[in-house]
Amino acid sequence: MFRSFAFLPLLALSATAVAETTPAARNAALNAPLPADQAAMKAHVMFLASDAMKGRDVGSPEFDIAAQYVAAQFYAAGLKPMGDEGGYLQKVPLTGYKIAGEGSASWTGAGGAAVSLAFGKDFTPAANPAAKATALTAPVVFVGYGLEAPQYGLDDYAGVDVRGKIVAYVGGAPAGLPSEVSATFGSAAARQSAAAKHGAVGVIAIADLRKAGRGAPSFASVTKGYAAERITWARADGTGSASGAPLLGTLSPAGAAKVFGRAWPALARGAARKTLKVRPTTAAGTLSIASATNFRAIPSSNVVGMIPGSDPALGKETVVLSAHLDHVGVGAAVNGDTIYNGALDDGIGIASLIEAAKRFKTATAPKRSIIFLAVTAEEKGLVGSDYFANHPTVPIGDIVADVNLDMPILTYRFEDMVAFGGDRSTLGPIIARAVAGIGVGLSPDPMPEQAIFVRSDHYRFVQKGVPSVFLWPGEKGPGKAAIETFMSNCYHKPCDDLTQPILWDQGVRFVDANYRIAREIADAPQRPVWNKGDYFGLLFDGPMAP
Ligand SMILES: [Zn+2]
Repeated sequence: MFRSFAFLPLLALSATAVAETTPAARNAALNAPLPADQAAMKAHVMFLASDAMKGRDVGSPEFDIAAQYVAAQFYAAGLKPMGDEGGYLQKVPLTGYKIAGEGSASWTGAGGAAVSLAFGKDFTPAANPAAKATALTAPVVFVGYGLEAPQYGLDDYAGVDVRGKIVAYVGGAPAGLPSEVSATFGSAAARQSAAAKHGAVGVIAIADLRKAGRGAPSFASVTKGYAAERITWARADGTGSASGAPLLGTLSPAGAAKVFGRAWPALARGAARKTLKVRPTTAAGTLSIASATNFRAIPSSNVVGMIPGSDPALGKETVVLSAHLDHVGVGAAVNGDTIYNGALDDGIGIASLIEAAKRFKTATAPKRSIIFLAVTAEEKGLVGSDYFANHPTVPIGDIVADVNLDMPILTYRFEDMVAFGGDRSTLGPIIARAVAGIGVGLSPDPMPEQAIFVRSDHYRFVQKGVPSVFLWPGEKGPGKAAIETFMSNCYHKPCDDLTQPILWDQGVRFVDANYRIAREIADAPQRPVWNKGDYFGLLFDGPMAP
């Protein structure tokens, strides 16, 4: 699961106790016999989460070996190759991008004298994934949050003309919004698309005006991380996929004071209030910003296989089951271990995908087709799934749903399941019927503050208007404690490996649930639809859709 929504409160990290065992004792535990179906599932994770795979980071040879492994398993499961040119692999041209140098920024006020904005004191530029060189001179308009969501009373562009201008906004989201809505407002992306829609040429964030967290940037942290490499997928010219007006960088309050002059103290006070109240204000002058971004090609792959549907009419429609193949690679040593194996995140999701696919081999064919999709670069920001959603190997309009399997924590006997996003579409009742078949019910989202619905690969399908869910074993019974133990100790840590007490019989139950869910969606008379008035349905598949 993706952690880069930095505003999400990460669970406290407690010291990880690693059981002191001998190599022989560890091998005895690892290789203890299991019934065939459990052993088959465990075998995938033994390979994918082995130290030899070095944490399956994108761009590593080990990731490519892992992709070949999944292709081989899809072949064994009898799936039809749905990647490039008759193969299982879909090439994903990832690109790393980072800012080159400190750039330059200056403000020319009404009097005509230019004042430079000092790097790291007044202004810190941002890498532009869409261009090697960025140079802009334009007026600046402060638009408060810079958000537009009429159904939540947000309309920061009302009565202001930002065409040809740079929009300055304050980060974070207003209080009182549902967490996943608030999360979509937490990043710059919502501002960038609203700004572009209104004809602005760029956006800049203003830091440190709101309480830290919930997406309001801190200038120190922006400056500290400004030169970090980020990853997206590349367009034909080698620059990265990006949408909306470019994020040019972040102003500190001192920088904002230089730009807005005498208007600034009142704006800053308004922005700092609990209920933000700011009238759009145009600074008298122009801001000039120049920066350069370097790009580095990182070839990678998604792995795609299909069970063709049997129904003459419905067979062209497709249900997608997805999981991510990448993990975070090799990193800082924890208890002497530098390999972040990613057994639960998401080796076990990939294993579930393979085993669910195999079940169809011996069953009657589903009416709709089912695509099994192992994506790259989830940990880099849901990039492989975004590439697939933008370059689907079947028409996007024929994809009726994505059911995403990411990091199911299978260290306890689960008594319920959660389908994050299930209450937003007719998928909820469909999935509830399917999981009743393994004797469990669907529980509501137990951790709404984590905004899980927007944090894994299914969200890239949601953004294309496809009703989708993210499936997890639930918190009932021993679930809550088991989930908290994993999140505190081993989430994105070297100990997410096979020394964890994974219950493989629960893995088989999870596969069974996924098989039933895929079949139920594939065989239903109607394809899933968004519930009437659902926020994400309206945003991506309704009147507000791009
Ligand atoms: Zn993860």
